[in-house]
Amino acid sequence: MSLVVVGSVAYDGVETPHGKVDRMLGGAATYISLAASYFTPVKIVAVVGGDFAAEDTELLVSRNIDLEGLERVPDGRTFFWAGVYSADMNDRYTLATELNVFAAFNPQLPAAYRSANYLMLGNIQPALQKNVRAQMDGVQFVGGDTMNYWINDFRGELLETLKEWDFLLINDSEARLLSGETNIRRAAAAIQAMGPQALVIKRGEYGAILFQGERHFIAPGYLLERVFDPTGAGDSFAGGFIGYLAGQEAQRNRGEIDFAELRRAVIHGSVMGSFCCEKFGVDRFRTLTHAEVDARYAEFQECASF
Ligand code: AMP
Repeated sequence: MSLVVVGSVAYDGVETPHGKVDRMLGGAATYISLAASYFTPVKIVAVVGGDFAAEDTELLVSRNIDLEGLERVPDGRTFFWAGVYSADMNDRYTLATELNVFAAFNPQLPAAYRSANYLMLGNIQPALQKNVRAQMDGVQFVGGDTMNYWINDFRGELLETLKEWDFLLINDSEARLLSGETNIRRAAAAIQAMGPQALVIKRGEYGAILFQGERHFIAPGYLLERVFDPTGAGDSFAGGFIGYLAGQEAQRNRGEIDFAELRRAVIHGSVMGSFCCEKFGVDRFRTLTHAEVDARYAEFQECASF
């Protein structure tokens, strides 16, 4: 069983109170894939330019990520994003978004990807997300992420896309924007009515809430002593969530994935999101071991059990 991940592969410039890096590997699909690779084989679909470094390719290959769907445009430049964080790191300001080769991104799945059972659509234009979903035969569990820009300016396309999703991962302010409800429980019900049977509302350092049908589950955030760089934490959460489900070969039963399995997936998401923040960019994934992942999962069980 494998997982297809679609989204941006980028170079990022990031400044946090702990330091500044002008250019390093980033992108939503990168973080999702790296995090998911701890649980399941991953196939990536993205585009990069001729400036994409061999060492960055090697990091993805070292995590066994299939790069057949990574399109390379030799005379183009890789998507570049730069941002700076507030002193408490709860706010992020975008300084630069240079789409470069990403502007013409129209994901086409290699034949070998189309029969994968799990699909995670990173934050790209909703019509492209819909188009990718249509290229998959018999996908078991599909969903993704979105952002304010698509909710505000591409609402119709987004609603058409969401109809075909089993899960949506979204942060609390986006959930309010998408639903038009300020109360989070009412917001969740409104979004579930748009399509996704499972909804995860992320609340940054405070964790996440999972909704399915009438049920919900509140997952804590991990109390890190120091957050170096939150970039990619949401995407790493998504990678842990869907990667875990794919690794377990989670199947729908009467349309739904078992709620207990979804709860474990959300905790794996929190585990991977927390590791991501411990170093700049993707650096934590260079050394992270399965034993560390398992140990942190056990810590979550301990601190949330009563
Ligand atoms: P996160 O911190 O989880 O929201 O993810 C941050 C990552 O998203 C960075 O590595 C950026 O390269 C990437 N990113 C930023 N803006 C965009 C965008 N407009 N489309 C796709 N990816 C983006």
